Formats: sequence, structure tokens, C-alpha cells
Amino acid sequence: MKKRIAIIGAGIGGLTLASRLHSKAEVTVFEKSRGLGGRMSTRQAEGFSFDHGTQFFTARVPEFKQFLSTHLSSGLVQEWAGKVITLEKGKKEEKRIWFEPHYVCVPGMNFLCKKLAEGISIRLNCEIAPLRAKAGKEWQLFDKENNSQGAFDLVISTAPPAQTIRLFDSFLSVDAGIRQEKLLACFALMIGLPQSWRHSWIAAKVKQSPIEWIAVNSSKPGRNQEHTALVVQTENSWAEAHVEEDLTVATKFLREEMESLVGLDLGGASYISLHRWRYALLEKAHDDESREMPFFDRELQLASVGDWCARSRIEDVWLEANYLADLVL
Ligand SMILES: Cc1cc2nc3c(=O)[nH]c(=O)nc-3n(C[C@H](O)[C@H](O)[C@H](O)COP(=O)(O)OP(=O)(O)OC[C@H]3O[C@@H](n4cnc5c(N)ncnc54)[C@H](O)[C@@H]3O)c2cc1C
Repeated sequence: MKKRIAIIGAGIGGLTLASRLHSKAEVTVFEKSRGLGGRMSTRQAEGFSFDHGTQFFTARVPEFKQFLSTHLSSGLVQEWAGKVITLEKGKKEEKRIWFEPHYVCVPGMNFLCKKLAEGISIRLNCEIAPLRAKAGKEWQLFDKENNSQGAFDLVISTAPPAQTIRLFDSFLSVDAGIRQEKLLACFALMIGLPQSWRHSWIAAKVKQSPIEWIAVNSSKPGRNQEHTALVVQTENSWAEAHVEEDLTVATKFLREEMESLVGLDLGGASYISLHRWRYALLEKAHDDESREMPFFDRELQLASVGDWCARSRIEDVWLEANYLADLVL
């Protein structure tokens, strides 16, 4: 009988693992939200498309470049290029140079995850509850409504550290590396304008403002350029300080900040919505020396992997997930 593996989380980490393991094991992926992608997701709303998490990714190591080559050939992954600037109130905008290709998925960031998910058994809208004591050699999984989701030999969590710690609770040793890792919050304001974008830039790194990044999402390849979709992301320290703020209050504040930064009147916007990422980016990125190993307790048959092992970058998560897949296989 094939080993039964439960993977919690359908982001790039969980789906990379699933695509590696499903020919050798009986894999089921559980995802609490209604779509695939996790922090690499795309929101479709009122005709607009917003990549409100991952903005782009780069490829530095040969293995990841090799993995991308097929998707570059098929057009699923394409380079996003154009004028990028530094923006600061009261100062002249400065042109920034991107020294390496910046890739996006087409037509939305979550399409790479959708590709990886092909042929895999996935249960969406299914939030797994903290694990209970093992029944013999098996883990019995339950969702938060206490429905049984089946028995598994191995459970792998790709949820952010705080959520994995809640899931694994007492089964995780006190000195497990994941316990030291923290992800910081980020807010993403999504703005849809009926007219096409009138500036020459496609993205701006913002200085001296709670806003850190503005992307003209509609300038990415394969998006509708007849209207404008903007994704505005905040600094992590601002988001941490305002993480419990009422979303209407935070939206008003960020909207006004955006208007004064870019000189836009958002009164005519067709769509404005704010997304709160409670767990967005790793507080302290690891270099090669300080990198954490994925968690894998062979005795208990519990494992976890994610950006907490390295850095909050798609390439790093993909590498770490492959590393854990090798250990499991
Ligand atoms: C705002 C923002 C901007 C970013 N920008 C970039 C960028 O430009 N470039 C880049 O390379 N990286 C970027 N990142 C980082 C990158 O998105 C992440 O490092 C990567 O997507 C993490 O993937 P993952 O699969 O490890 O985790 P996630 O994508 O977080 O996936 C974990 C999944 O687990 C699910 N889950 C959690 N608990 C449960 C449960 N109990 N039951 C079922 N499901 C559960 C969650 O819903 C989620 O879908 C950004 C992240 C954010 C938030």
C-alpha cells in the first residue's frame, strides 16, 4: 500500500511537495481558503486582476532555472519588464535598475500553483484543526468543524510558522527551529481604475512612507491593459503596528497616502479593497550559513517546510520544498 501523505497548505511550498510526491504516495492537500496559491495568489474582482501577495520572482540557482524553463517556453511564466522608480514625497522620482529578470505567471500569479496542482487531490475550504494524539501508527485529521478528513501516515504542514506551531502543538519539540521564526504582517491595497495607466512606470519602491511598494499590476504580461489595476503594499513595521486596525480606517489612510504620493484622485476608482496578510514576510531572512533545515520528525512522521527555512522568496520556498521531498522519498 502506498504511503498516505497529508499536506497542509496549497501555496507554492505545499504544491511543489505534492507534485514531487504524488506519483510515489497517496497525497492529499488541504487548504483552508477557497483557492490555490497561498501568498502567491491572485484576486479577480469586478473585471480587475490583482496579484496581492507575491509580486514577481527571480531565478538564481540552476535547478530553479531548469524548472522554470518549461514554463517559460509555454508562456506560463514571462518576464515583467519596464520602468521602475523610487518615489519619495517632495523629491523627484528616480529610475531604478533591475539587474536580473523579474518573472510573473500569466495570466495571474497563482497559475504556476494551478499547474503544479494538476492531477492532485485537493480539498479546498478545509481548515485542518490542531493534531490530536496518534491512533497507533496513523494520524487522524479533523477539520475545524470536527469532521474527520481521514487517516495518514505522514503529515506535512506548509502553513506559516505560527499556524504550524498551533497545528503540531505538543508534538513539536521545544527547541524546534520553526519556533524561533516569525513572519511580519503586510497590507495590500488593491485599486481598480477604469482608464489605462497614464504614467510611464510599472512599479515604484517608495521611501519615507507607510507604503513601500506600488505595482501597476495591469502592466504585467497577459493582463488587461485597457484599465488600471494597482497593488499597493505597506511596510512591514507599519503593518505590524496596525495589524488589528479596522480595515475601513486603514483603507482610508492608505488611500489618502497613495493619492498624495502619486498625485492621483481615487474618487473615480471602480474598485478599492484592502487585504491584510497577518503572516507575510520572514522577519529575519537566513543566509546560506544560518539556513534552517525543514522540520522532519521521522519517528512521529511529522514535517514542515516554508520560507521560514531560508527567505521569503518563491525560489527559496521551491528549493526547500524539493529538499524536504528528497528527504521524504
Ligand atoms: C505581500 C507579500 C508580498 C510578497 N512578495 C514577494 C515577491 O515579490 N517575490 C517573492 O519571491 N516572494 C514574495 N513574497 C513571499 C512569498 O509569497 C512566500 O515566501 C511564499 O509564497 C510562501 O509559500 P508557502 O507555500 O511556503 O506558504 P503560503 O503561500 O503561506 O501557503 C500556506 C498555505 O497554508 C494554508 N493554511 C494555513 N493553515 C492551514 C490549515 N490549518 N489548514 C489548511 N490550510 C492552511 C494557507 O491558507 C496558505 O494557503 C511575498 C509575500 C507576501 C505576503
